[in-house]
Amino acid sequence: HRALSTKVDVPTLGEIDIPTGLHIDGKWESGSGDKFSTVNPATGEKLVDVAHASREDVDRAVKAARRAFKTTWGLNVDATERGRLINRFADLLERDARKIAAVESLNSGKGIRIARDADVADAVACLRYYAGMADKIHGQTTDAFGGSKLALTLHQPIGVCGQIIPWNYPLGMWAWKVAPALAAGCTIVMKPSELTPLTALMMNALAVEAELPAGVLNTVPGLGATTGDAIARHMDIDKVAFTGSVPTGKRISVAAAESNLKKVTLELGGKSPMLVFASADTDDAAQWTANGIWYNSGQDCCASSRIYVQANVFDRYVNQLRKRALTVAIGAPSDEKTSFGPLISAAQRDKVLGYIDSAKQEGARLVSGGRAWPRSKGFYVEPTILANSAHKDLRAAREEIFGPVVIVTPFRDEEHALELANDSEYGLAAAVFTGDTRQAIRVARSLDAGSVWVNQYGAVHNNVPFGGFKQSGVGRELGSYGLEGYLQIKAVHLNL
Ligand code: NAD
Repeated sequence: HRALSTKVDVPTLGEIDIPTGLHIDGKWESGSGDKFSTVNPATGEKLVDVAHASREDVDRAVKAARRAFKTTWGLNVDATERGRLINRFADLLERDARKIAAVESLNSGKGIRIARDADVADAVACLRYYAGMADKIHGQTTDAFGGSKLALTLHQPIGVCGQIIPWNYPLGMWAWKVAPALAAGCTIVMKPSELTPLTALMMNALAVEAELPAGVLNTVPGLGATTGDAIARHMDIDKVAFTGSVPTGKRISVAAAESNLKKVTLELGGKSPMLVFASADTDDAAQWTANGIWYNSGQDCCASSRIYVQANVFDRYVNQLRKRALTVAIGAPSDEKTSFGPLISAAQRDKVLGYIDSAKQEGARLVSGGRAWPRSKGFYVEPTILANSAHKDLRAAREEIFGPVVIVTPFRDEEHALELANDSEYGLAAAVFTGDTRQAIRVARSLDAGSVWVNQYGAVHNNVPFGGFKQSGVGRELGSYGLEGYLQIKAVHLNL
C-alpha cells in the first residue's frame, strides 16, 4: 500500500515524499477527489495539496475502525501486545525524528530546533508513557454480599473514537489523543487541522510500518465544517475527543448530543493569568512570562496572556519584561537559532493586529512590539507588551488572542489580584509568583484553573493531568485520567 504522496522540498532535508491522501482501513486513498491546500506560514506560499475526506469517506473510516475494534483490537488483543506496538511506534518516530520535525516546522512555522527537541521528543515520551500503561488497567472486586456472590468491575475500551485536533501543536496534540486511545484498546478516526495535516499523515505511515492492524488508526484530513462535523455527528462513533477553540467545542458538543450522545472530551482555549506579588523575584517572573507568552509565538492554549503585578513593583517588572521582548529570537523556522516563528495564517496575523489596535484605542499603553514583523512576507507579529494601568475593560484582556500579546495590569492586594484573575470565562491555567509560601498555597487554592503553577510557568508532564475549569474544557488529558477518558466501567455481578 504505497502512500499517495507528493514530493516536497523540505529545508535541511531536500526533496522528500510526504503522504497526502486519506488513510482508511490500512490503505492510502485519494477519497472523493476533493483537495485542499496547505501553506508555508513563513513565506505565505502554497506547500502542497491534500485529499479532503468527504462524509462518505468518514463513514468508511468509521466502519473500518469498528471492524478492527471487534476483531484485531479492543478486547481481542492482549494489553501487553498493545503496549509493545505503541512502543514500536515510538521507536519509529524516534528514528524519523529529524524528518518529522523538519516537516512540522515547515507546516506550522515553529523553529526547527523546538520542533525536534520539544514537539517530537514530547510525542515520543507520550507514546512511551501510555505504552507502559496499556497492561496496567485494573478493575476492582467487591466481596460484600455473602454466599457465593461477588461483584467486579471491568475497565473496557469505549470503542471507536473520533479525534479532532488543532494546528498549534499538530504532533503534540496528535500524541495526547492517539497514545491513550490505543493503550485503552480504542480504534481511531483522526482529523488533523486543515492548516497542518502533514505530520499526522506521516505518523499514519509509521503506524503501517509498526504493524498496527488495519483500521485501528485512520486519518481523514479535511475542513472542520465538513469532515469534522461528519465525525461529531456520526451515529457509530462512541466518543469524540477535541482540542481547539471554545466556539468549535460547543458546536461539537451539540452535534454529539443531537446524534448518538457520544462521550465528549474538550480541551479548549484559555486566557491564563499570572499573579506577581511584590515579595517575588520579579526578574525571574519576567523570564517565566516571556517563555509563557512568546513560546510558539503565543499560539498556546496556556499562554501567559494576562499578567497582574502588585502596584509597587509594576514599573520594575514591566521594564524587566520589555528587555526580554527585545531579545526574542525571531527568524526563519528552518534556522536552528529561531525560537519565535510566524503565526499560522494571514487571518490569524490580522486578528492579532486587530486586538492590538483595539487595545490601544481602548486606552492601553503599547510598551513593546505591536506590528507585523517588517522583515518577512510570512505571517509574523512582533512580541508585544501592553500595559493597562488604568484598569480599562479591554477586549484584548478578556478574549483569547492566540498570539504573542501580553497585557500587564497592576493590583493592590491579594484579594484584588484574585478578583481580577478569576474574572474570566476561561479556566485553563494560572500562576502565582510570591516569596510567601502560605500565600502561594492560599492563592493556588483560590484560582479557577485546571493547572496552577507556583514560581514557574507552563510545566506540563505526561503523568500529571491537564484540562480546564469553566469554559476551558470538559474532562482531562494526560496521566491516568487521560487513559480513563478512553475507558468505560462495566459492573459484573456474580452468583457462582
Ligand atoms: P478550531 O476550533 O478552529 O479548530 C480545531 C479543529 O476543529 C480543527 O481540526 C478544525 O478543522 C476542527 N473544526 C472546526 N469546525 C468544526 C466543526 N464545526 N465540527 C467539527 N470540527 C471542527 O481551533 P484552532 O484555531 O485550530 O486552534 C486554536 C484553539 O485551540 C485555541 O482556542 C486554543 O486555545 C485551543 N487549544 C487548546 C488546547 C488545550 O489543550 N486546551 C491545546 C491547543 C489549542
